[in-house]
Amino acid sequence: MTAREPPPIRPAPLRLRVRPAAESPLRAGHPWLFADSIREQNRPGEPGELAVIYDRRNQFLALGLFDPDSPLRVRVLQAGQPAQIDAAWWAARLERAIGIRANLFDGQTTGYRWIHGENDGWPGLVLDRYAETLVLKLYTQAWFPRLAEITKLLVARLQPGRIVLRLSRNIQAAARAWRLADGQMLHGAAPESDVVFLEDGLRFGAEVRCGQKTGFFLDQRENRRRVGGLAAGRRLLNVFSFSGGFSLHAARAGAASVADLDLSAHALASARRNFALNRDDSRVAACPRQDLKADAFAWLGARPARVFDLIVLDPPSLARRAADKPAALQAYASLARRAAPHLSPGGLLVACSCSAHVPAAEFFQTVQGALAGVRRLERLQTTGHPPDHPATFAEAQYLKAIYLLCFPR
Ligand code: SAH
Repeated sequence: MTAREPPPIRPAPLRLRVRPAAESPLRAGHPWLFADSIREQNRPGEPGELAVIYDRRNQFLALGLFDPDSPLRVRVLQAGQPAQIDAAWWAARLERAIGIRANLFDGQTTGYRWIHGENDGWPGLVLDRYAETLVLKLYTQAWFPRLAEITKLLVARLQPGRIVLRLSRNIQAAARAWRLADGQMLHGAAPESDVVFLEDGLRFGAEVRCGQKTGFFLDQRENRRRVGGLAAGRRLLNVFSFSGGFSLHAARAGAASVADLDLSAHALASARRNFALNRDDSRVAACPRQDLKADAFAWLGARPARVFDLIVLDPPSLARRAADKPAALQAYASLARRAAPHLSPGGLLVACSCSAHVPAAEFFQTVQGALAGVRRLERLQTTGHPPDHPATFAEAQYLKAIYLLCFPR
C-alpha cells in the first residue's frame, strides 16, 4: 500500500468586518470595499482570494475578490446571500452578461463589449469582442489565479478564434510573477495585423495587442451612429479623432467633407487605414478627407481659415482624479469656446466627456455656459452610456455627450 498524501492544509476563509458606514453601501449593492473601511481581518490575504465580508452583528454582507495591494481592497462578486463560487456560478455569471446583450447587435456590428466589469458582476474585468477576437482586459491582479479557469469558460461558451490579454498599467509588474504580460495570447494565434471588425457595416481595424483601451473606443458607437445620422451634406471637423470613427460614419452618410484632428500621427495613420478599408463604399470614396496633426486646444484657438457645419469634441479623460474636476471643467469650457468660431451659422456641436469625476449635469451646464454668451443655442439632445456598457453605480457613470445647434447671437 502506498502512503497517502496528507490532505492539503486549507487556510481558514478570509473574513473581514467592516466599519458601520461601509455596511449600507455594500447592502445596496455597491461593488467596492476600500481598505480604510475594514475594521477586522482574521489573517493576511493573498491576491485573488475570496474574502467574506460581515457586518457588526456578524451577518453576511458580501463576498468578493481580495487584492492586498489595492486601496480598493475587495471587489464584490456576490452580495446579500452567500454563494458557492464554483464553475457553475461563473458560467451563470457569464450567461447573465451574454443575455443582456442578446439582440442588441446584428451581423453588421461585430465589435462590442461582452462584459463591462462591475456593472456585469465581473469586477475589474472587461471583455470586448472584435469579430472572432476577444480581448480580456484586467484591472486587478485578483483575477490572475482564476485566469486559466475563466479562459476555459470563455472558449467553451463563445468559441472565439483567439483571446488577447490586456493588463492595466498598475498590475503589469505583479503579472510577471504569474508569467503574464500585456498583449499576450491566452488562446489561439496572435493576429498578424489589426483585427478587422464591423460597426454598422463599416470596417474598422483594432490594434488589440497594444492599442488604447482594448484597441478601439467601442463606447462611442451610439454617438458615432447619431453623428452619421446628422452628417449628410455637412462639413465635419472630428476633434480628438483617434482612428476616425466619427468621420467614417459621417462620410458614409454623405458628409460634404471630413477632417480628422489628433495629436498622434499614429492615430491619424489608423484613421487613414480605416478609410481605405471602406473604399468600396461610393460615398466614403467620394468624401474629401483631411488630416490635421495638432494639439486640439492650440488649433481651435487659432483664427479659423474655414468653417465647419458639424464639430465633434471627444477628448480623452480630462479628470483622472476627483481633484482634477475643476481643471477638467475649465478645459471642456475652453474647448467649446474655441470651437465656436469654427462653426458655420446653425452649425452643430457635439461635445463629449468620458471623465467619471465630472457629473453629466455639470458637464452639460459648463459647455452651454461657455457658449451662451457668443451663440444662441438649441439643445438637440444629450446621451449617456450605450447598452453594452451599462453603468450600475455612480462611479461607473463616465460617458455623456451634448448635441447643440449654434446660431449667431
Ligand atoms: N473619438 C474617438 C476616440 C477619441 S480618443 C473615437 O470615436 O474612436 C482621444 C484621442 O485624443 C486620442 O486619439 C489621442 O491621441 C487624442 N488626443 C489627446 N490629447 C490631444 C490633444 N491635446 N490634441 C489633439 N488630440 C489629442
